[in-house]
Amino acid sequence: MISIKNVRKIFPSKQGSLKAVDDVNLEIQEGEIFGVIGYSGAGKSTLIRMLNGLELPTDGTVTVAGRVISKIKGAELRKARQEISMIFQHFNLLWSRTVSENIAFPLEIAGVNSSQRKKRVQELIKLVGLEGRENAYPSQLSGGQKQRVGIARALANNPKVLLCDEATSALDPQTTDSILDLLVDINKRLGLTIVLITHEMHVIRKICHRVAVMECGRVVELGPVLDVFKNPEQPITKRFVQQVT
Ligand code: ATP
Ligand code: MG
Repeated sequence: MISIKNVRKIFPSKQGSLKAVDDVNLEIQEGEIFGVIGYSGAGKSTLIRMLNGLELPTDGTVTVAGRVISKIKGAELRKARQEISMIFQHFNLLWSRTVSENIAFPLEIAGVNSSQRKKRVQELIKLVGLEGRENAYPSQLSGGQKQRVGIARALANNPKVLLCDEATSALDPQTTDSILDLLVDINKRLGLTIVLITHEMHVIRKICHRVAVMECGRVVELGPVLDVFKNPEQPITKRFVQQVT
């Protein structure tokens, strides 16, 4: 479903240049929940942003659902992005719109007519468990409810891939668990491929099938979550595993 081949991203910096992502190779399967863990500055966000064309790799190729994301632009990229949705740490909701209007927004952009929009919004509200909150504004919601709106909005156009950039980092542990349960439910029900980045190993353990550990722009360890927990090889992986054992 996702293929990342020899991908590098170099940003200009005061020192000359900064390798944010340095020769990363990953294959992510359809229906997989794939985790990427690393400390701040490891390059996780840069990597995930290259999966939907928000950043362009300096070198290498990113292919998602058969499209070479790193090579397309304009209308073609916008179309591809409907299949590759994203949710964020701070939800990125539209504060002047209600829950229903936030969820309807990507449908409006895609040109879905009003009656179909209403029907789809209702389905999504039900899917994420926000019945009764349709007319609330984001400021009237808890953090967990805001992320549910973010998830519903991300799913509006039936994407094939959901990218989650620290989607639970602003939430308390209990709310984190409920959002992770929702992501698992969506993964199972819709067969959606999920790529999740985090700096919390319990998030990886709770829902991911495989994990890549990133350090200084590189993937330093990769494997099924159970194996990585049983036999962490790199010092950084051992530190992450110790967080939760
Ligand atoms: P965090 O856990 O703090 O979110 P991260 O693993 O997501 O960190 P990135 O945001 O990908 O890390 O950043 C990787 C490196 O690239 C950092 O050194 C960062 O300062 C740098 N960087 C990221 N985006 C840019 C940019 N647009 N211009 C210049 N440097 C950038
Ligand atoms: Mg980040």
